[in-house]
Amino acid sequence: MSALPILCYHNVAVVPKDAPFKLLYVSPDSFERQLWTLRRLGLRGVSTSEGIARQSNGTSRGCVVFTFDDGYADTLMMAAPLLKRYGFGATCYVVSGAVGTYNQWDAEYLRESKPLMGRDQLDQWLAAGMEVGSHSLSHLRLHEVPQDVARYEIAESRTALRNMLGVPIEHFAYPYGHFTADIVELVRQAGYSSAMTVLPGVARASDDRLLLPRIFVNGERGLWKFLLQVATPYERLRWRQRVSHVLAK
Ligand SMILES: [Zn+2]
Repeated sequence: MSALPILCYHNVAVVPKDAPFKLLYVSPDSFERQLWTLRRLGLRGVSTSEGIARQSNGTSRGCVVFTFDDGYADTLMMAAPLLKRYGFGATCYVVSGAVGTYNQWDAEYLRESKPLMGRDQLDQWLAAGMEVGSHSLSHLRLHEVPQDVARYEIAESRTALRNMLGVPIEHFAYPYGHFTADIVELVRQAGYSSAMTVLPGVARASDDRLLLPRIFVNGERGLWKFLLQVATPYERLRWRQRVSHVLAK
């Protein structure tokens, strides 16, 4: 059974000169070089649903899952046209209570306000053949709030996005990538079929679908590092160690 690399992006945009966390930005030029190179290698970008379905039936060879966290407007404006040009799919994890606003949860920390897709833009993202997942209702640190609140954040975002967009919402991404055994259980109870962490690694068919590892695409690193991560399993061991460490806490 082949391993499934899952890429994690935030912004596809030219990095603002004074952005303190430049690693969150992949420039449109670099992004296109990544797509071009993957295609040259015979690989194809797919959504979370397609990647998981293919891994289940043994046809995921050559697939790379593209995920975008938070639902930034540049995911639609910059990434979607390039993905479409290459025939790639992708999944964007949207904060349901923040649609059409900005990254209130970390704007102060990052010292920058980044616009998020509105309802119409999410429709355009879907119309481009892409997928929407849930990134909770308001991007709280779920393990630091009362369990009732966490349960609501996880379940209500699924309902809200489904009602807003009229499509099934099957996949979740943990805000900040943080999870505990309790949070994983709430995600399971809410009926999601997968959930993304930010622990590094490539997904195996035997992995818990609610604890999927991802490859963070660091906009400050070059193409070779990107390829090393996508095309080789070298981060796998690190991921195993970190999952058991987190769940043991
Ligand atoms: Zn996020």
